[in-house]
Amino acid sequence: MTDTLYDVVIIGGGPAGLTAGLYTSRAKLKTLLVERMIMGGQVMTTTKVENYPGFPGGIDGPELMMRFQEHCQEFGLETMTGEVTGLRDHGAEKNVIVDNQNIRSRAVIITTGAEPKKLNIPREAEFTGRGVSYCATCDGAFFRDVPVAIVGGGDTAAEEALFLAKFASKVYIIHRRNELRATKLLQERIFANELIEPIWESVVTEIHGGSSGVTAVTLENVLTGDNRLLDLAGLFVAIGVSPKAHFLADILQLDPEGYILTDSECRTSMPGVFAAGDVRKKILKQIATAVGDGAVAAIVAEKHLDDFD
Ligand code: NAP
Repeated sequence: MTDTLYDVVIIGGGPAGLTAGLYTSRAKLKTLLVERMIMGGQVMTTTKVENYPGFPGGIDGPELMMRFQEHCQEFGLETMTGEVTGLRDHGAEKNVIVDNQNIRSRAVIITTGAEPKKLNIPREAEFTGRGVSYCATCDGAFFRDVPVAIVGGGDTAAEEALFLAKFASKVYIIHRRNELRATKLLQERIFANELIEPIWESVVTEIHGGSSGVTAVTLENVLTGDNRLLDLAGLFVAIGVSPKAHFLADILQLDPEGYILTDSECRTSMPGVFAAGDVRKKILKQIATAVGDGAVAAIVAEKHLDDFD
């Protein structure tokens, strides 16, 4: 156990966590932000962010997150790398367990975000990194002049299909319904791209391949039950995300999907513990809403600390 007592510990370094850190460190609260891997969260895997205000023409995800970090450094935000595995409540003091170390804090803001969902089909794990990927931005360039497919019909699948079409010889969008859920602007771009071909009302049931990677998938038509083989070298999965809150399941109220339940001011079921960004149950998951949440959580955490003083 370290002797330092922080005012605020923030768990997670995406847009919500960095915004919370900016606000609390600017308010001169002693703050530590703990990040498991690299700062920036899911935005780091986005090539171009087009809907974050203030950047006409768009901005690369990693560049935007670099600016968030630099802004936090301006106010002296302290950061550390480590995996948080638990949180203990001792009333006015909380203990955040980071790699078996206890970090003491008066308030905690959880901004752990979400991670891509898996298809949960046979051989998916075996081929992950060898043809199966959950991040087109990260892996798309490895698939030059070969056919690939992306599963899903949301904004992520649409954006990633457009990105993959810069490299691949053909991009199939495999979707279980007969229309995309993605925004109209993205749909227009998809349908205007000759390399992209939707395969409607279908799901992937099997992955085929060998030592060199994926060679084909089996598709099942969800209406007829018919199966067909589709030759491809890369299978990208973009079927939504799951919240990263498993380690809190015993101590905080979560919804059935595992999102942290909060009030409109980001308070969780544990006094002094707040949640912001994609890990929180809410209607819209965007960078702009994560930033809004981070600011609210920071200000409400500050008020909570004032009430204890
Ligand atoms: P999403 O909107 O939840 O879409 C997931 C897609 O995957 C849906 O089309 C869904 O089908 C399909 N799906 C889910 N489970 C499946 C399964 N087991 N098998 C096959 N298909 C399955 O997820 P997302 O695209 O990752 O987006 C997440 C959030 O981030 C959204 O709020 C989105 O607007 C936001 N986002 C925004 C931007 C942007 O604004 N530029 C970019 C990326 C993401 P159904 O349609 O049948 O349900």
